[in-house]
Amino acid sequence: MKNDKPLVGISRCLLGDAVRYDGGSKANQVVLEELSQYFEFIPVCPEVEAGLSVPRPAVQLTGSISKPKVTGRDQPSLDVSDIMQAYCHSKPAQLKLLHGFIFKSRSPSCGLNSTPVFIDGEMVTETGRGVFAKKLCEVYPQLAVIEDTQLENKELLNEFIRAVKIARLKHQQA
Ligand code: SF4
Repeated sequence: MKNDKPLVGISRCLLGDAVRYDGGSKANQVVLEELSQYFEFIPVCPEVEAGLSVPRPAVQLTGSISKPKVTGRDQPSLDVSDIMQAYCHSKPAQLKLLHGFIFKSRSPSCGLNSTPVFIDGEMVTETGRGVFAKKLCEVYPQLAVIEDTQLENKELLNEFIRAVKIARLKHQQA
């Protein structure tokens, strides 16, 4: 694939697409007004691509920080762990050309360092990682990554832009 701009994956709701569990979006102004000038975005919504509907029951990470299940927030008997894991296993192979990824914070699928995990109904951490973000970072440890809440921080934003450019250079030289 030949592109003028670096290829950056992004949690699709941040582009303003109505794919969230509640049927809404999370349009991000830094993404839409600033970063869209520099990057070509590849939108990804793990929950929708795994086959979940819009709207859908809210899910959360439960049972373990290192190997959590993905279960219903209001319906604990709902367990979508297997379909999410199957998706997370297969999807990264389609994303090998990416130079970076912008994740939606706090999501059980997309959160980078901000997702709550619950054990026996108690929140045991607020800095967990969503199942898709975790798998993608494991498969591509050199990928430049950031989550939406960090985009407001100019220093972190500039660091991310630099890291994406470096990743792109490395791809070109490979
Ligand atoms: S946070 Fe991720 S899984 Fe949730 S709606 Fe956005 S893109 Fe989809």
